[in-house]
Amino acid sequence: MRYYPVLLDLAGRECVVVGGGTIAEGKVAPLVAAGARVTVIAPVLAAALAAQHRAGWFTHVARDYCRGDLVAAFLVIAATDDAEVNHLVHAEAVAAGALINVVDDPPYCGFILPSVMRRGDLTVAVSTGGHAPALAVRIRERLERELGDEYGRFLELAAQFRTALADAVPTFEERKRIWYRLVDSDVLALLRAGEVRRARMRIAEITGLSDFGLTRDDAGRTDSGATSLPPSGAPRTVGRVFLVGAGPGDPKLVTARGLEVLHCADVVVYDRLVSPGLVDEAPAHADRVFVGKSPGRACVSQEGINDLLVHEATQGRTVVRLKGGDPFVFGRGSEEMLACVKAGVHVEVVPGVSSVLGATAAAGIPVTARGIAGSFAVVTAHRAGDDDHDWRALARVDTLIILMGVERLRTIADALLAAARAPDTPVAIVENGTLPGQRVVEGTLGTMAALAAAADIRPPALIVVGDTVALRATLQPQHSDAEMADVA
Ligand code: SAH
Repeated sequence: MRYYPVLLDLAGRECVVVGGGTIAEGKVAPLVAAGARVTVIAPVLAAALAAQHRAGWFTHVARDYCRGDLVAAFLVIAATDDAEVNHLVHAEAVAAGALINVVDDPPYCGFILPSVMRRGDLTVAVSTGGHAPALAVRIRERLERELGDEYGRFLELAAQFRTALADAVPTFEERKRIWYRLVDSDVLALLRAGEVRRARMRIAEITGLSDFGLTRDDAGRTDSGATSLPPSGAPRTVGRVFLVGAGPGDPKLVTARGLEVLHCADVVVYDRLVSPGLVDEAPAHADRVFVGKSPGRACVSQEGINDLLVHEATQGRTVVRLKGGDPFVFGRGSEEMLACVKAGVHVEVVPGVSSVLGATAAAGIPVTARGIAGSFAVVTAHRAGDDDHDWRALARVDTLIILMGVERLRTIADALLAAARAPDTPVAIVENGTLPGQRVVEGTLGTMAALAAAADIRPPALIVVGDTVALRATLQPQHSDAEMADVA
């Protein structure tokens, strides 16, 4: 049996639900929502239905079903817990030419009900042909996570310009081209980020309906993205800056919010630790500005970067500053943010998975573990100024993670040994954590510097000192792969 999918217009149609218990409960509201005139036939109503009845949603016939109840029915749902009654309902419905569904009884169904998700006027219906409704529910839930409210908002806007577009562009082929450009553009991403005004402007640009970007909506409603408004609620007159944590390396480890704002970028400013795969996620029209160090070229100074962010934003552009790991972990993110705040530019930080947690996890090294490590600390080996860390205090931290330390490995090891950390403390160096070229070198505090030199470890790499490094032997993915291969 293959079902033929349709979307029914039930406005003003007579629909009858036989049964008033929990099975019937979920069936009534969608019919009412579709504008049907609903009658429920049942001696008593379950609590939720009784409340809906009090609210005037449907007519209640407070008795058992009788032959003749379906004469005027367009659609019938039999939802009693008595199969015999349901089958009588089915017989009358068929004879009356009404559409009939007997809940959970496929041979007695003239139609079945899909699992439905809606975003405004967008309807997605999923059916498994009645074989596994639970699977349909899971698929629907997956779609619900993927398709946000922006789809409904897009359709609202589409309803506003559809006729004007048809008038302005009479040829079907040309109109079709414009529609595909619209749905493939960043309009949906802009709506998702709450950038209604910019979405309208983009629609105006693509459709050529020049006044669409400037309607009454502009006057009252500023971009309504809850997280995107300046904290003061002040109207935004210029662009904005997002300081986005790009994650430790693997482009998939950016956050959902990070990707969302990246999809709206006019300018992406990034440095060496950011994966090209992530920069690629920016819209095609976005400028991509590399500000990291590269061989043979002077790198852009921090002031230069700050000025660039502020300048671009004051031109009304959406600037996404992609920073490796988390923007506030040794990334000078606070300086960039401060520059924006000082210049009155709206700035939002989107946290990222720091290499501190990402690269260690990818190497199979937990930063804490019950009974083994109850504290961890993160330090940079690269400090401006002469003052150094309090190595005696750091030597007492269970797991110590050192960033930017490859070149100073011997000095660091000596400092920790002098502060009485045991020479046989396990140490690992993780190079290119989470990236395809990830390498891990393991040793002890006493041997580490020599091992790292022998392995020619290069940045980016971090150093982990502490007993949890030893857990790696059992936890690290390569080991489990090998074991799986053995099992196979
Ligand atoms: N904000 C970044 C850190 C910037 S400092 C974060 O949160 O991760 C740069 C240092 O981070 C590098 O010198 C290195 O020590 C570490 N690092 C960054 N990415 C790394 C990676 N993929 N693997 C190992 N260490 C990394």
